Amino acid sequence: MQKLLSAEEIAVQAAGEASPNRLPLPQVFADRAARLRTLASGHSMGDFLLFAAHLADAQHALLQRRLPATRPDAAHLARCRQHGMPPLDAQGAPLPDDWLDVLLALAAAVAPHAPASLQAVIADLPAYPAARLKALAHAILRADEQLTDAAELAIAPLLGATLQVLWTSQALALRAADLPAGFEDSLCPACGSHPVASIVRIGDAGHGVRYATCSLCACEWHVTRIKCVPCHNTRGIAYQHLEGEGGALHPAVRAETCPECHASLKIVSMEKDPMVDPFADDLATLALDMLVDDTGFERAGRNLFLFTP
Ligand SMILES: [Zn+2]
Ligand SMILES: [Zn+2]
Repeated sequence: MQKLLSAEEIAVQAAGEASPNRLPLPQVFADRAARLRTLASGHSMGDFLLFAAHLADAQHALLQRRLPATRPDAAHLARCRQHGMPPLDAQGAPLPDDWLDVLLALAAAVAPHAPASLQAVIADLPAYPAARLKALAHAILRADEQLTDAAELAIAPLLGATLQVLWTSQALALRAADLPAGFEDSLCPACGSHPVASIVRIGDAGHGVRYATCSLCACEWHVTRIKCVPCHNTRGIAYQHLEGEGGALHPAVRAETCPECHASLKIVSMEKDPMVDPFADDLATLALDMLVDDTGFERAGRNLFLFTP
């Protein structure tokens, strides 16, 4: 006999069916690597973007080895959906048992393409205290890493890439209906992390629909256009873009600025370029962050390949 659902359960199920959330595709890292290679061509930071492409290649190979991932247990998913909690919580969740193996495999795969200074750090990585690496991984997941030493700064993007593989594989075991729906928030409904940027996709009706893209698990959640994602303000929203000699430099990327909280989040547009990737296009437009910073706004997007002291 089927269990009767409470009114609340019915509402949650109905919201889940028309989910405003998008799960990542299994080829997310391969697509990102291809986009990074396109963007690297003729770019002043071409070497950096090519290295990021190699890192994304390694992420793709490691992700495929983890699929299909195990679904979280049904009671946990139901509880999270009911209380609007992210089921793959990045803040408090333990790391999967094999996290260090993934980090070492990823580092070994990118070592031949890494700059000399990073190659030296990678060679020493197996001897690096695992407890310090673990503490750093948790700090990155909580977005409160404080990087002062050179080795940690060099390792952080490798750890960031590792954490993306671990969380994206878990996200691929979810269904869109597993995610809390019916709300619009500044953090990812799957894992609670910050967005890297936002993307305007072409919706079924042919008009643009905006989503924020998670910096960790690559899930996307619907956000309103012309609205600040960090603080939800809709007044005085403005846009900046990079200007070259012959017009807009990266026409598919704009920075949305908010006069209330002084945050700026990028919007990449599939209407302008169907091949955009929020993560890759963010890395290729760091000059736009400088422009935005010069005009008094602070970058709100979090990119796990970019860490500063
Ligand atoms: Zn997420
Ligand atoms: Zn704001």
